Amino acid sequence: MTNFPTDKFQGIETPFYYYDKKVLLATLDTIKAELAERPNYHLHYAIKANANLEVLKEIQKAGFGVDAVSGGEIQQALKAGFEAQKIVYAGVGKNDWEINLGLDAGIFCFNVESLEELRIINELAEKKQKTAKVCFRINPNVGAHTHANITTGLMENKFGIAMEDMELAIREAKELSNIEFIGLHFHIGSQILEMDDFAALANRVNELQDRLESQGIKVKNINVGGGLGIAYNDPDGKPVPDFKKYFDTYAQNLKLREGQQVHFELGRAVVGQMGSLITRILYVKNTHHKQFAIVDGGMSDLIRPALYDAHHKIQNISSMEAEETYDVVGPICESSDVFGKNEKLPKCHRGDLIALRSAGAYGEIMACQYNCRKLPKAYLM
Ligand SMILES: *Cc1c(COP(=O)(O)O)cnc(C)c1O
Repeated sequence: MTNFPTDKFQGIETPFYYYDKKVLLATLDTIKAELAERPNYHLHYAIKANANLEVLKEIQKAGFGVDAVSGGEIQQALKAGFEAQKIVYAGVGKNDWEINLGLDAGIFCFNVESLEELRIINELAEKKQKTAKVCFRINPNVGAHTHANITTGLMENKFGIAMEDMELAIREAKELSNIEFIGLHFHIGSQILEMDDFAALANRVNELQDRLESQGIKVKNINVGGGLGIAYNDPDGKPVPDFKKYFDTYAQNLKLREGQQVHFELGRAVVGQMGSLITRILYVKNTHHKQFAIVDGGMSDLIRPALYDAHHKIQNISSMEAEETYDVVGPICESSDVFGKNEKLPKCHRGDLIALRSAGAYGEIMACQYNCRKLPKAYLM
């Protein structure tokens, strides 16, 4: 079990996010080592998973780029010191100011999700006498074995351009004066643990590439998105995801043409396991039906359990007494403000610290002020 630096937690107001620097650096080192063997593979960290400046600076130092899905994320990436040339930008609803920001900064490429968007990017680029580099985000109609709210690559999802329209989009791009077509982009979903799903995507990309090749269309860059999952049930046993298996899956299945570069957009797998939400028990309440541990952190601080039925491993890091059974719940006025039901925890008392593990991704960044609460702070240490 992780030894939390509880002495350093003294005096910090709860709830807060604790980011374990050792785990982050071990994760970054593992990815670096995998990519060192494959010079044509590039990682763009999906900044939406965690945009904490201290965390971003470590990722930037490791040499990776950024995948942004909004203008605000592009700004945050630039602030953290990422080069514009290492930023890719996706999103179904890019606003004009966001496109202009990308053009002014000189980002690597826009991952374009519709023909309507392509024409607007061309218009805005023309006004600035710039050329926008674009990849088309293609909806590959590949499912992923994950929660329905986090699949993105099915025909029913709002993301991307239909496969039937791929050639149409590429032809149009070639006719537009201020657009340079540089590749194809895909992203099938998140928290994916079955490598077969990524293999299915690679095979779809192969088919599409064959189709384009037969029409004499060349593609410089293939971006396969992100989605690699983490072991929510075993943060101590598997603090670093199996990046080798992940990259090997693409190496074995994705057929590359000469000189082609492959881009990955991992978010959760990079930052998920380093984080815990540290929260304090306010009350232990017995209702005759159940025993509740009521903590000071809630769904406003960590929304994944309420939003995706996610479960974060729960630990009482203050007590070593015999275990009892608790529902661990937050203070927010919503019945879905529950972190765990029937959790076996060392006997709980008012004041004990509870750690909600694997909360580094889609935690702090999704926090909100519902119930007029303060936003949680985060500490990388
Ligand atoms: C969210 C997202 C990612 C990252 O997903 P993870 O599951 O965190 O790896 C990558 N690419 C795009 C386009 C995304 O929207």
